[in-house]
Amino acid sequence: TELPADKDQNNIPRQVEKACFSYVQPVVPTNPALIHAVAEVADNIGLSQTDLASLEFLNVFSGSTVYPGTKPYAMCYAGHQFGNWAGQLGDGRAINLTEVLHENKLYTLQLKGAGPTPYSRNADGFAVLRSSIREYLCAEAMHHLGVPTTRSLSLMETGDPVLRDILYNGNPAYEKGAVVCRVAPSFIRFGSFEIFAARNDLESLRLLADYTIKHHFSDIKEEGVSKYVAFFSAVAKATRTMIIHWQRVGFVHGVMNTDNMSIHGITIDYGPYGWLEDYNLGWTPNTTDAQYKRYRFGNQAEIALWNLYQLANALFPLIEEAAPLEAVLESFRSDYEKDYLQMMQDKLGLTGDTENDLVLIGTLVQLLEKAETDMTLFFRMVGKITKENAVEAAFDTIRLGFYNESQLPQNVRAEWEKWLQNYLNRLQKETISDEERANKMNTCNPKYVLRNYMAQLAIDAAEKGDYSIVVELFNVLQKPYEEQPEFEKWFAKRPDWAREKVGCSM
Ligand code: AMP
Ligand code: MG
Ligand code: MG
Repeated sequence: TELPADKDQNNIPRQVEKACFSYVQPVVPTNPALIHAVAEVADNIGLSQTDLASLEFLNVFSGSTVYPGTKPYAMCYAGHQFGNWAGQLGDGRAINLTEVLHENKLYTLQLKGAGPTPYSRNADGFAVLRSSIREYLCAEAMHHLGVPTTRSLSLMETGDPVLRDILYNGNPAYEKGAVVCRVAPSFIRFGSFEIFAARNDLESLRLLADYTIKHHFSDIKEEGVSKYVAFFSAVAKATRTMIIHWQRVGFVHGVMNTDNMSIHGITIDYGPYGWLEDYNLGWTPNTTDAQYKRYRFGNQAEIALWNLYQLANALFPLIEEAAPLEAVLESFRSDYEKDYLQMMQDKLGLTGDTENDLVLIGTLVQLLEKAETDMTLFFRMVGKITKENAVEAAFDTIRLGFYNESQLPQNVRAEWEKWLQNYLNRLQKETISDEERANKMNTCNPKYVLRNYMAQLAIDAAEKGDYSIVVELFNVLQKPYEEQPEFEKWFAKRPDWAREKVGCSM
């Protein structure tokens, strides 16, 4: 299927009509240098270690040269931002280099920060080193946590300063520029469909839907109208699974606008994301969302559903019948609740007995919020509780998770002890050994996540030209579920200086 391309090939910011994408040229960087590349992702697309070290790799993945026979392009899409229709958005600082078919799998390679496109609006199309490191590391961390995500192929410095509107002593601040190459089956978003529905361009809408199903949802065998319903249902399922994983590891995306929602249900567009440290359903790392906290941790499933409503509206003209779309949307909440319960049971090492576990889990979530408790440390330590433990011993085991254990109010401590007694009673029903249960729990409760302060330490050093922490974090996050004694320092509560630090975007 041929997708419609922009006829008017220039880089002036503008409305692009009746096109899915525009051809663009990456900007040639002044002094590109490879900071890091991911051998596994390279291998996925058929590149070797030697390829990664080649001048050709540096040239192609910094944007210096266009690989022969390819035609880079930026995609056109729209979206709802913070609940409001935002009109045309598009790849303002992302350029798809090409698609690669390797070992029967389709990959799209995309540069982020390689210069302006027709969709750059009033921004420059570039990316700073700081946000590029955050995206590069987090995508790989997520992958190894088992969370569906875009992958990172390479991180390059461009050698060109990028102007950002942060003022130091009243002067404009320049930051180091960088380009990340990220990889995904495609970068098609909910907003890719919304734009054509909003413009009543049904021809492009149908072309894009047919193209997407043919190339990326080839399992769908239905035909006619049912094909589009099956597509929507598959997107809803993948999205639900992604959110469950986010809740499992404590990831908060921060900008769940419909233009940042992949139709593959993979985590995409890492901006002001963050990781829960103290367990708080109301937390968002996004300072621009501080008032309503629309994209807070505890609201991510509801927002996913809200976004799916927007996608349903966009696909409706192809289906012209609301009922099958509504059926998918209506089952989202109950399916999510089932998956959520299962996920929380896994985190606690519980099997069967769902009814009572719902209460046990609900009480736990309340308690985690009441006392400032580190999510990652807490769940990792719960796995060390044994059936023979008395409440005191169990409390000693999870102690590490509290930020301010010595100041835990008496009544809260008493509630914790009560919960632990219930948990210990519940564990008696489990038939496998403590050790087997702990091993299983350790496959869903990570030991290492990319805490914001960790990324910040890597960034601060990188700004000074020292990439050793980027490399160290990349390495530790390859095996987030394993004990790695040499990296034990990263299994720790956020230090005090990082308490009110939030994520960053741009
Ligand atoms: P985001 O919320 O980061 O996903 O971005 C929202 C929209 O703004 C997308 O269409 C981006 O392509 C665009 N955008 C963000 N930063 C830049 C930039 N530095 N240059 C051009 N476009 C940008
Ligand atoms: Mg291979
Ligand atoms: Mg985006």
